[in-house]
Amino acid sequence: MSLTIEEKFQNANIRLTPQRALIVETLAESTDHPDADAIYRRALKKDSSVSVATTYRTLSLLEEAGILRKLNMQDGKARFEIEREDHNHLVDKENGRIHEFKNDELNNLIAKIAGEMGYDIVNARVEVVGKKRGDTECGCIQINVY
Ligand SMILES: [Zn+2]
Repeated sequence: MSLTIEEKFQNANIRLTPQRALIVETLAESTDHPDADAIYRRALKKDSSVSVATTYRTLSLLEEAGILRKLNMQDGKARFEIEREDHNHLVDKENGRIHEFKNDELNNLIAKIAGEMGYDIVNARVEVVGKKRGDTECGCIQINVY
């Protein structure tokens, strides 16, 4: 069961301020994986008092608290998403869109490989960069945040 925003802040032992709630809400409503500037522009539409500096500061604080995850993509751009159940990303090389997928077989294989190397997995993420072939539906999952 996923935690509410309030519970996440409580667990991370940081105060839930209106600015922080605004950034989390903005990300929770996003169906993509926005970068910091896009998050700022979206947050600004909801609250005209938000600044770029506050947005960046809040993003790194929330990342440290484990509420957000910063994705350092292979294209060198950092994107953000709400920290939630493990899933993998497939990045469209042409338009940069990030599709999400989960696969038990892949998870088992990763666990097997890590196990053979003497490790228990703490977390595992796979990032695939792909070039779209034809019009096939991606069938990508949209993991519910709350
Ligand atoms: Zn994702």
